[in-house]
Amino acid sequence: ARDRSLGALIISAPLNTPWNTTARATIEHLSISVSLAIDAVLLDEEERQARAREHTLATALTTIDHPVFILGEDLIRYANPASAREYGWPVGELLGRHFADLVASVTPSRPRLGLTEHDNELDEQSLPAEHRHRRRDGTEFVAAVTVSELRTEAGVAYGTVVSVRDVTMDRAVAEQLRHSEKMVAIGELVAGVAHEINNPLTSISAFAELLLEDPLGAEQRESVELIKRESDRATQVIRDLLLFARKSDAPVGPIDVNALVEQTLRLRSYVLRNSEIEVALDPDSSRPAVQGDAQRIQQVVLNLITNAEHAMEGCARRVLTLSTQQHDGRVLIRVSDTGRGMSAAVQRRLFEPFFTTKPPGVGTGLGLSVSYGIAQAHNGTLSVDSSVDEGSTFVLELPALSGAAGSLDEHRNGDDA
Ligand code: ADP
Ligand code: MG
Repeated sequence: ARDRSLGALIISAPLNTPWNTTARATIEHLSISVSLAIDAVLLDEEERQARAREHTLATALTTIDHPVFILGEDLIRYANPASAREYGWPVGELLGRHFADLVASVTPSRPRLGLTEHDNELDEQSLPAEHRHRRRDGTEFVAAVTVSELRTEAGVAYGTVVSVRDVTMDRAVAEQLRHSEKMVAIGELVAGVAHEINNPLTSISAFAELLLEDPLGAEQRESVELIKRESDRATQVIRDLLLFARKSDAPVGPIDVNALVEQTLRLRSYVLRNSEIEVALDPDSSRPAVQGDAQRIQQVVLNLITNAEHAMEGCARRVLTLSTQQHDGRVLIRVSDTGRGMSAAVQRRLFEPFFTTKPPGVGTGLGLSVSYGIAQAHNGTLSVDSSVDEGSTFVLELPALSGAAGSLDEHRNGDDA
């Protein structure tokens, strides 16, 4: 059947009665019918197997937990259930749609934007190509896309298989890792240098002070006073550096967060009043507590307040808002300002040591990197939300001390006893 040999039909007759032509013709017809019948059965079997194969493949695509599409001429011919979950369209509505409709943007490999330390100009480093896909609700995600062509056995292309993976989180984690590795490396370097410089600086300052006790000419006095002032300023920078480089030592004790915030605010109340900054305080009434080094946590809040003051210089509306909030085993300390805010380029780099947009003498670029290190040492995080000309909100998030307010009182009572 169909040019294939399916087998042999053997019919025997007694030697003395040879086949006549009619008999031969009948047998030939019979063999043709038999082969057709066999062929039909075999065809059915092949089709059944093909269907089973198809079913297996379809099931496999169904269970894959990331989107897989089969396209013909950019039209979606097949979409697995994971595509519906990821993109928010029912499979039925994905079919027949142009795949390009799901693509928000494709940015080819491009230079990285950021500020150089000197002139705030944009420097160039390469970023890999980035595909962004759009969901039904308008949100976007970074997609890793793999495309393979479908070809017939003769090699003619008739479609493509596109498989997509949401790598938004991968990107964020890699960025986070890159950042913390950099911080550790810089921390070690800085600690070494700072220690080396600290000793001579202390001597310079001490001897300048001694000199000032001697009778000096007016001009000499002025020079020595300058030496003293400048070496003290350098000492302060070194102290910041050492604070930044300090390894995460064990948290020290329970901290009443509301009290700490109020105390820190009092430290700045004079400056805040002079700069005519309105202050709003919104403490959580549950009196949240954290475990840690109160002085270092205070340093963070102080840095955030100082930055807020700087950011609101020359702004018509100047409101500083501090709030504390206990939520889900975490304590959030928020510092918001109505200052000039910052661009995305600044936001990307502001936790880097020595990154500053302020003139020399005003900013060291260490405040936020020190704060970031302190947050990490306390198993916490420091994050920012900001928009240009509207203001910024920094959030210090720390693990709550269980039993918050109660345990603080117990601790105090314990101390008293
Ligand atoms: P410094 O204050 O010495 O410049 P920081 O590490 O404290 O260093 O801050 C780094 C940079 O981040 C600042 O120079 C500024 O550009 C930006 N920045 C920090 N806080 C704010 C804020 N509240 N509003 C706007 N920009 C800010
Ligand atoms: Mg600062």
